[in-house]
Amino acid sequence: MKVNSIAQQDRLGTISRSPRWAIAYKFPAREEFTRVKDIVVQVGRTGALTPVAVLEPVQIGGVTVRRATLHNEDELRRKDVRVSDTVVVERAGDVIPEVVSVIKSKRTDAEREFKMPDRCPVCGAEVLKEGPIVRCIGVSCTAQLKERINHFVSLRAMNIDGLGDKVIEQLVDRNKVSDAADLFFLTKRDLLKLERMGEKSARNILKALEKSKQTTFSRVIHALGIRHVGVHTASLLADNFSDMDAVRSASYDELVSISEIGPEVAKSILLFFEQECTKELLGKLERAGVWYDKTEKVAEDEKFLEGKTFVFTGRISMPREEAKSLVERLGGKEVSSVSKKTDYVVVGEDPGSKLAKAKKLGVKVIDEQEFREIVKA
Ligand SMILES: [Zn+2]
Repeated sequence: MKVNSIAQQDRLGTISRSPRWAIAYKFPAREEFTRVKDIVVQVGRTGALTPVAVLEPVQIGGVTVRRATLHNEDELRRKDVRVSDTVVVERAGDVIPEVVSVIKSKRTDAEREFKMPDRCPVCGAEVLKEGPIVRCIGVSCTAQLKERINHFVSLRAMNIDGLGDKVIEQLVDRNKVSDAADLFFLTKRDLLKLERMGEKSARNILKALEKSKQTTFSRVIHALGIRHVGVHTASLLADNFSDMDAVRSASYDELVSISEIGPEVAKSILLFFEQECTKELLGKLERAGVWYDKTEKVAEDEKFLEGKTFVFTGRISMPREEAKSLVERLGGKEVSSVSKKTDYVVVGEDPGSKLAKAKKLGVKVIDEQEFREIVKA
C-alpha cells in the first residue's frame, strides 16, 4: 500500500531501509486439500535424496500444483504422510508447494507407508544417512556429477565461462563427460550437438576452457570439490604444500598440524585422495595441460567478479542496494534485465518474469544462499 500524493510522500520521508509511505502486506499462505498419488525420491545436486509427494493436481492461488516436497525422511515421519492420504497442501510464500498435514479422519486403511530406498534411484549406489539427510555416496552418480562439475567451473574455482546448468546437464546426460576433467577434452563438434548451442557459444566455451588452464594452485585444489574444503582451506593447503603430489601424499598428522585444519577436514582430504576416481581426475587434468602457479593464491580482495553481470528478481533478505554494492566491490555489475549475456540471475521470494526469461535463455539461476557464497556475505 502506498500513499498516492508525492508531496505527502516527501513529508513522510524514508527511514533507514524503507519509505514511511509504503508498506507491503503478505497474503496468508494459500491451502488446498488433495490426495497423494505417490511418493517418489528426487536426487539433488548434492546427492541428497528428497521425498516428494506426487499429488492429484490441485489449483492453489491460480497455479496447478502436482508435486510437493516432503523435505526429508524425518519430516515425512513426523507428518506421517502415506500414499493415498488426503493432505493439506500450501504454497508457502506462494512459491514452493509443501504438504502441511494429513487429514487422518479420511484414512481408509488403503494407505501405504513410504520407505526411503537404501540405494540411490539414479545410480544405484548405497546411501548414507547424515542426520536427517540421506545422501547418495556413488562416485559416478550423475546427479552429483552435475553438481561437482558446476562447482569445478564456478567463479572461485576454475572460473570457466559459458558452462551453465543446462550445458552441464546435457553433457552429463549424454555421457560426454564422466568427470570435470573431461571438459578439457571436449571438441567443438561435441558442443555443437547440444541444444541451443551455436558456433559462437561453442567457440567461447572452448576459449574459456583453454584460458582456465593457467590458474593458481589454490583454485585447482578448491575446484576438486573435496568435502569440507572451501576457498579458505584450499588456500591453506596451497600455502603448506609445494604441489598437488605433496597434498595427495600428505599424512593425517601433516594435515592436522596445519592450524585451522581439524580432524574432520583432514579425514575428508585423505578419503578424497584415496579414491581411484581422484587419481584418474588428477591424471586427466595433467594431460589436459592444466598448469598452476604453485605460489600464487586467490587474493582475498581479488576482483573476481570482473566482467560478470547479475540480475536480481524477487525479494532477498538483504537490501537490494547492499547486494548491488557487494557485487560491485568485487568488480561485477548489477543490470536490470536478463539477456543471453547475463551471468547470474539471483532469485528471491516471489520472483518476476525475469526468472522465466533466464530459464528460457539458459542463464545461470542461483538462490540467495548461493549468491552469498559467491560474494562471501
Ligand atoms: Zn546416486
